Amino acid sequence: MNHTKASAEENPFEAMHARFDLAAGKLGLEPGLYQILRTPDREITVAIPVVMDDGSIQVFTGYRVQHSLARGPAKGGIRYAPNVEIDEVRALAAWMTWKCAVVNVPFGGGKGGIICDPQKLTKGELEKITRRYVARIMDIVGPDRDIPAPDMGTDGQIMAWFMDTYSVHQGKFLPSVVTGKPISLGGSLGRIEATGRGVMICVREALKHLAMKAEHCTAAVQGSGNVGLISALQLASIGVKIVAISDIAGGIYNQKGLDLATISAHLAKTKRLEGLDCGETITNAQLLELPVDILVPAATENVITSRNAQNIKARIIAEGANGPCTAGADKILDQKGIFVVPDILANAGGVTVSYFEWVQNRMAFFWTQKEVEDRMEHIMCESFNAVVDMARRFSVSNRIAAYMLGIDRVATVTRMRGIYG
Ligand code: NAD
Repeated sequence: MNHTKASAEENPFEAMHARFDLAAGKLGLEPGLYQILRTPDREITVAIPVVMDDGSIQVFTGYRVQHSLARGPAKGGIRYAPNVEIDEVRALAAWMTWKCAVVNVPFGGGKGGIICDPQKLTKGELEKITRRYVARIMDIVGPDRDIPAPDMGTDGQIMAWFMDTYSVHQGKFLPSVVTGKPISLGGSLGRIEATGRGVMICVREALKHLAMKAEHCTAAVQGSGNVGLISALQLASIGVKIVAISDIAGGIYNQKGLDLATISAHLAKTKRLEGLDCGETITNAQLLELPVDILVPAATENVITSRNAQNIKARIIAEGANGPCTAGADKILDQKGIFVVPDILANAGGVTVSYFEWVQNRMAFFWTQKEVEDRMEHIMCESFNAVVDMARRFSVSNRIAAYMLGIDRVATVTRMRGIYG
């Protein structure tokens, strides 16, 4: 294996830039705007000293990157993982800018991360890390500045600590500083299901577009966390047969269809697939290459690269995860005629309902689940159609069309606002 090539291909910020450059070229973006939109507005690195349960002191590193504030306050999750890197956070922040613009919610893009292993920390240590991180980034976040949310390794409890620390320092109740909160603390109905439901809506629209029928289709889903499991359940609800699912340790495959009720109950109890006896054991690499109609990579970045793209057999790939395909893979998937619903569209149901949560917090008036679902459905279908239409008009892939749509919307407001100074 060529490690140098692989690492360049797999650098998420370079992967974002590769697509940005193609889309900017197609749009004929002027050189000044090209430079502005390629560069994050602000990034900070903070030291987070914490007294651990055993009395020792550990200093963790945290990041917050605000890629663009042109269309509104930055919006994007916070990731707790041992391998968080600044280039990954930069890429995720930029993807949030394009994603918010694709679904036309009034936010810019941001992302944060802390280098830590949440599995190895106690609840008390996680709380201290979170609160100290909030104190460190206090000046740049806020309901009108930057609104974080959960991502890999973070959850509603962490958002509750975030919101509490911020509110205590500001001297008032400010739930709209974060989204993805527990319902009892101002979270929105439908937020937990939102990303997986958005994936399903995109697949359903893609099937219509390709004149395929859900009830004749099979799907493999990589990942069984919030996005993976809910995408699987949602796809099953429209008649798709789910034949494979995985977690970080590997997957299970059953050609006849998996028993998702048993899998959900097992995951709720143990948080992992290990111990289930409803199919044959496969690796994550094998799952991606299964002979299915629909493939949903919903775990992590860089799983479909120039090394395995040729072996993908699915007709539709719906990217539940952020950045699951590299730019090298894009070319091969295009040549194979695979219909890719890119991450900045496919998983945008999450940020759409996060926007609804922020709106509800600011109004202090809450919507029913049906209102949330209907509004999200409308936005996802409109965005899907806008991307497919752009792809047709410019003869580009869906991914480049989505970037073009997002970049054009950000460029338009940046031109209107002008360059101050
Ligand atoms: P999660 O932590 O709930 O679940 C992640 C799943 O992926 C788990 O099943 C885990 O075991 C598996 N996994 C992790 N690393 C893996 C690897 N290297 N190989 C195979 N499987 C692996 O996270 P999530 O919230 O479901 O997020 C998954 C992806 O979706 C991430 O890319 C995230 O940025 C993206 N995303 C999440 C949301 C959201 O609302 N949660 C919204 C948009 C995008």
